Amino acid sequence: MADAKTIDGKAFALGLRQRVATGVADFVGQGHAKPGLATVLVGADPASQVYVRSKGKLAVELGMASIDRKLPAETTEQELLALIAELNADPAVNGILVQLPLPKHIDTAKILLAIDPAKDVDGFHPINVGRLGSIAPGAPLDFPVPCTPLGVTMLLQDALGTLGGNHAVVVGRSNLVGRPVAQLLLRLDCTVTITHSRTRDLPALCRQADILVVAIGKTEFVRGDWIKPGAAVIDVGINRIPTADGKSRLVGDVAFAEAQQVAGHLTPVPGGVGPMTVACLMYNTLQAARRAAGLPYLAV
Ligand code: NAP
Repeated sequence: MADAKTIDGKAFALGLRQRVATGVADFVGQGHAKPGLATVLVGADPASQVYVRSKGKLAVELGMASIDRKLPAETTEQELLALIAELNADPAVNGILVQLPLPKHIDTAKILLAIDPAKDVDGFHPINVGRLGSIAPGAPLDFPVPCTPLGVTMLLQDALGTLGGNHAVVVGRSNLVGRPVAQLLLRLDCTVTITHSRTRDLPALCRQADILVVAIGKTEFVRGDWIKPGAAVIDVGINRIPTADGKSRLVGDVAFAEAQQVAGHLTPVPGGVGPMTVACLMYNTLQAARRAAGLPYLAV
């Protein structure tokens, strides 16, 4: 079998960002205020600072407004709830992103629940989780959807066209990735099997997959002989492993070199799903601004 086609998530994400920028320019051109993304960072965790800065910077690059709120680590839950209430009420804010993890003395679930579901651009609010869980096949995604799962289905649709009728096996059942990916694939008329750490004979189930999405966080766990010849394989995993020179590199949950010999399509790590997450965050913010202005969902 010839080598799998690489699904170039980096290139697709760049294109999506450009289309979002065009959507933003059209929106502002119609007389609306710039879509606003508020980022909330509590404490000074260096990795979180980098993530928040890059999200705010990209929002500005795409023509949106970035509202950055940084709070000290000792901020109380009440103070954070008060800030969320302020951002919920601010018409200049269309998306609210609370960078996780929060300090231990703050109840994360309580904070996420306090975000206005219309501004929940991470798609984690129970109202939006429920909307995704009860969506009719093919119905428009007219509410915020978790960014990484949305990116996964965008890549699959771009690579394969219609997904309907395919057997999709999702490895991992987290609220962040596995479950929402499964819901999105069900909406696209796939026959979906969700697997997890207690699944019996996972390799045999994976071998039935026309579409295999892996999100478990275990280095090269899925081997080449678990893959049905010609299947589309999406590797969501990000694992950092040490290298001989004392540095490290990123690898996925799928043994890439083996998978490449068998799969029809395959995402690399890095450069596959990773870049889609922040691009979809921008997409969600534009859609939220359009909905707030009474405009319909924009296919970009
Ligand atoms: P998570 O919350 O730790 O969930 C892992 C899931 O994998 C769980 O459902 C777990 O099953 C399942 N699992 C663990 N070991 C397994 C095994 N041996 N066989 C079958 N299933 C197994 O992780 P997550 O947040 O979903 O993230 C998964 C991976 O995706 C991580 O590497 C993460 O870094 C990456 N990720 C990437 C992006 C991105 O590209 N932007 C975004 C988010 C996450 P149980 O439920 O039974 O425990």
